[in-house]
Amino acid sequence: MPRIAVVPGDGIGHEVLAEGLRVLGVVAPDLDFEHFDLGAARYLRDGTTMPPETMLRWRDEFDAVYLGALGDPRVPSNVHARDILLGARFQLDLYVNFRPVRLLDPRYCPLKDKGPEHVDFVVFRENTEGLYTGIGGQFKRDTPEEVAVEQEMNTRKGVERIIRAAFEWADRHGKTKVCMSDKANAMRHGHDLWQRVFKSVAAEYPRIRASHLYVDVLTMQMVLAPEQFEVIVTNNLFGDIVTDLGAAIQGGIGLAASGNLNPGKSALFEPVHGSAPDIAGKGIANPLAAILTAGMMLGYLGRPQDEKRIQDAVQACLHAGNVTRELGGTRTTREVGDAVIAALR
Ligand code: ATP
Repeated sequence: MPRIAVVPGDGIGHEVLAEGLRVLGVVAPDLDFEHFDLGAARYLRDGTTMPPETMLRWRDEFDAVYLGALGDPRVPSNVHARDILLGARFQLDLYVNFRPVRLLDPRYCPLKDKGPEHVDFVVFRENTEGLYTGIGGQFKRDTPEEVAVEQEMNTRKGVERIIRAAFEWADRHGKTKVCMSDKANAMRHGHDLWQRVFKSVAAEYPRIRASHLYVDVLTMQMVLAPEQFEVIVTNNLFGDIVTDLGAAIQGGIGLAASGNLNPGKSALFEPVHGSAPDIAGKGIANPLAAILTAGMMLGYLGRPQDEKRIQDAVQACLHAGNVTRELGGTRTTREVGDAVIAALR
């Protein structure tokens, strides 16, 4: 029986995860859930961000972590979010950030004349290095001569494993194109490493067409001709940015799912959106990203038919206009959850 650690976290994380869990209760009633009280409220109550023994339990005792969102205006430093989310990414070595960009209903696409057949690709974002390691420093802080340095770390091992994960996924899913994106024309050390590693890994997959775009061109092409992409692989920072653009063209942040993976080992699944303090507690957050994320988790657990069932139910819900306010609807979070469950049945 797969064991899932559940972390609603902060803000709308509680509301959207509740719906994801209801859907999982219908589709995969055998899952064994354990809830973890982590997030801003816990931090403010007793100073705990992420107990080291909890991280070890996630690694050793659970098949996946299902997380809502982290971020609370009462904790401006965001220390709890960093310890939990970045902590899990680094300590569980979740080197793949996997983000599908799939338009389920053309009505929610902001691009002219584009439908589901044009927007259907996945992004592999490197998740453990790049500009997110905190290497750097500040000198003469708060003076006119202040210097701030943020260093981008690219290791051969890190670059190779994310590129290989993208090709492996493409190969297993019958895809024929992988596009790597960097800024090697300006960042001549780290991204030169990406170029060389990409070429050598691509040579092992002769069936797959390997291409390259500088990230500025990639963003333009994602808007002009998203249909050219099947799999995109890129570094941590660029992946963060292009997947928000991806979320926008698939119908908005309320529909974007993500997985933080170490293939074959631990995994943490979360909707792409944050805790949305502006709408938290109002019952109007879109739960579909969290529900699609639950589906992605089932796919990872070896149940692709259950993942497909959830995707189809979400699509039916979108087609019927059972959507929350930010998509132009009038349904509450709970009502959207009800509509997905009705479609499943
Ligand atoms: P955080 O710091 O936790 O990332 P944020 O407010 O910076 O929070 P998001 O939480 O992603 O970033 O919210 C960005 C905007 O998108 C907000 O206006 C929010 O209300 C909206 N939003 C995010 N998620 C949803 C959702 N599931 N349903 C509806 N609106 C959402």
